Amino acid sequence: RANAEKFEFQAEVSRLMDIIINSLYSNKDIFLRELISNASDALDKIRFLSLTDKEVLGEGDNAKLEIQIKLDKEKKILSIRDRGIGMTKEDLIKNLGTIAKSGTSAFVEKMQSSGDLNLIGQFGVGFYSVYLVADYVEVISKHNDDKQHVWESKADGAFAVSEDVWNEPLGRGTEIRLHLRDEAQEYLDEYKLKELVKKYSEFINFPIHLWASKEVDEEVPADEDESSDEDETSESKSSEEEEEEEESDKEDEKKPKTKTVKKTTYEWELLNDVKAIWLRNPKEVTDEEYVKFYHSLAKDFDDEKPLAWSHFTAEGDVEFKAMLFVPPKAPQDLYEGYYNSNKSNLKLYVRRVFISDEFDELLPKYLNFLRGLVDSDTLPLNVSREMLQQHSSLKTIKKKLIRKALDMIRKLADEDPDESNDKENKDIEESSDSNEKKGQYTKFWNEFGKSIKLGIIEDATNRNRLAKLLRFETTKSDGKLTSLDKYISRMKAGQKDIFYITGTSKEQLEKSPFLERLTKKNYEVIFFTDPVDEYLMQYLMDFEDKKFQNVSKEGLKIGKDSKDKELKESFKELNKWWKSALANENIDDVKISNRLADTPCVVVTSKYGWSANMERIMQSQTL
Ligand code: ADP
Ligand code: MG
Repeated sequence: RANAEKFEFQAEVSRLMDIIINSLYSNKDIFLRELISNASDALDKIRFLSLTDKEVLGEGDNAKLEIQIKLDKEKKILSIRDRGIGMTKEDLIKNLGTIAKSGTSAFVEKMQSSGDLNLIGQFGVGFYSVYLVADYVEVISKHNDDKQHVWESKADGAFAVSEDVWNEPLGRGTEIRLHLRDEAQEYLDEYKLKELVKKYSEFINFPIHLWASKEVDEEVPADEDESSDEDETSESKSSEEEEEEEESDKEDEKKPKTKTVKKTTYEWELLNDVKAIWLRNPKEVTDEEYVKFYHSLAKDFDDEKPLAWSHFTAEGDVEFKAMLFVPPKAPQDLYEGYYNSNKSNLKLYVRRVFISDEFDELLPKYLNFLRGLVDSDTLPLNVSREMLQQHSSLKTIKKKLIRKALDMIRKLADEDPDESNDKENKDIEESSDSNEKKGQYTKFWNEFGKSIKLGIIEDATNRNRLAKLLRFETTKSDGKLTSLDKYISRMKAGQKDIFYITGTSKEQLEKSPFLERLTKKNYEVIFFTDPVDEYLMQYLMDFEDKKFQNVSKEGLKIGKDSKDKELKESFKELNKWWKSALANENIDDVKISNRLADTPCVVVTSKYGWSANMERIMQSQTL
């Protein structure tokens, strides 16, 4: 094209495209859901702008927020068009030539080794999946702020952008034309496309139309020529009809003759049900639908099911509907930059209109692993995102979301047969439902346990609720995870405190002299071996009126010993000698204690100072 400006793809994009083109990946279907998802995003954007400025939508067809799919069998082109926000020339160059999101190179690497493209949408590069099925792609786009432009590329490391002087004006939005590869001709089949839209794009909230063929009966005048050629014209009629017609012909020769012929016409056929799933009654939504909705929401098309979900309506001053999901797996970067950013994964809608998926006022940081959405009836529609962020209802929404999220997680534990006591276990084990829930809480804990700990540190209001969700191993848990409630139920008569010890590993701690006496006396001690546990225990002071006691710290009381006084008296002189001998060391005090059984002496840290483990952690952080 004469007016084309040529550009080279960013090196990373080029590499990605090479992989896609040469991929033997069998599920090529995914390109369609990526394109529809982009169209839906673009429609969300223009609808959001129209809340504060109606003009942006324009008039007539232009104002219709929809997606259209068309097939051209002769030219072997599949095109997808939306009336979304569109792209300016600059947008085309930037969005379809470079990769904005971080973590993409990790994805490219992973894809190269695994060959699995299923997660492409999560990495902000879904568009390039078009090259799974096309060898040449044109993107025609019209944004309100610019003229119509065409982006085109044959995936040869370069793309071109030109002002569009050939195609019909789009009004506004984007049309993507895929020139299908020879081996991808199946995507010219209407039936195939209908099936794909059903399968992958069920939860798109804009109408998706297919320019679909339809056979219709049409009455046409039967002219002389044709009626003389009886065989051909009556092909589609049954012989009875023929006879009838012949008879009536004889009866009324003057009546104008007509005949029925099959004609192929085209019309827009609606492929999806645009009613949002979260508006439906939870009782009428099946588990399978929740799972599928989760997959489309999280762009996670692996087969794994979310671990739990909650779908509810909040009523009262602040009304909203919400859906929360616990993903089956934690993303690798869940705790990356934890304290500096708030990467919430909740989508905010106001009265069905998508507002944002970057709203950080909906959930506290520690719950950022949840996926889901909130649709509020109370928030105002016609204000900017910044003003919404300040709205007083958000506090109430947040409070309720936290409560529901924690309920959902507690329920996951309650329903897991592995979590119940052995006796109850036997009763539950029978049902298949409980089989499905078996081990699910352990799975949750392994993926997201750290988030619960961070919650205890950060969220004083819900500290007790969160503490109930804690799991750990102890001197008596036999390699299994246990909870504070279970610990308390096993406490010895007269035991006042909850004993714990911190360190790098269970194996190391099991040898600790601090445990000698406690183990001998049959007390249970919790092992805290995660670095975050040291911080955790600075915030978790007590649980159900029981204090936490670090057994390596001063102040450990393991019941009274009748010989205590006697011992103190008889070792008085030795004690004095120790104190003077260690006077130049960093030692606060020397005490007679009953905490040991075999080891003669041990270094204990003071009650309010750092534990030895904490010292170790702090040191490793500054090095
Ligand atoms: P993602 O959708 O995750 O951002 P994609 O690779 O699918 O990643 O798309 C890249 C970018 O191209 C989008 O963020 C968007 O800015 C732009 N884009 C793609 N398709 C469209 C479209 N139909 N309308 C407007 N912009 C689009
Ligand atoms: Mg996309």
